[in-house]
Amino acid sequence: MRYSLEAAAKLLHEATGITEMPENCDGLAACLNAATDGLVKIATGQVLHVYRGLCPDAVTGFDSRDPDCPACQILQEIQP
Ligand SMILES: [Zn+2]
Repeated sequence: MRYSLEAAAKLLHEATGITEMPENCDGLAACLNAATDGLVKIATGQVLHVYRGLCPDAVTGFDSRDPDCPACQILQEIQP
């Protein structure tokens, strides 16, 4: 099934409870784009975890976040 970007953003909103995204988001579609851009940067290695102990992994836990890590900061913006 295909969704419009706006419909996908609404589904994401309903599934995650995300009500606000980075300040520059004008609507849900923009928020979804911002979230996707951030996740792609992490997935492609453009933004790396620092792995100083608090970054998510199998040992620390996948919900762990390091407030000083740029990749974790993106994750925290998406999933506060
Ligand atoms: Zn990290």
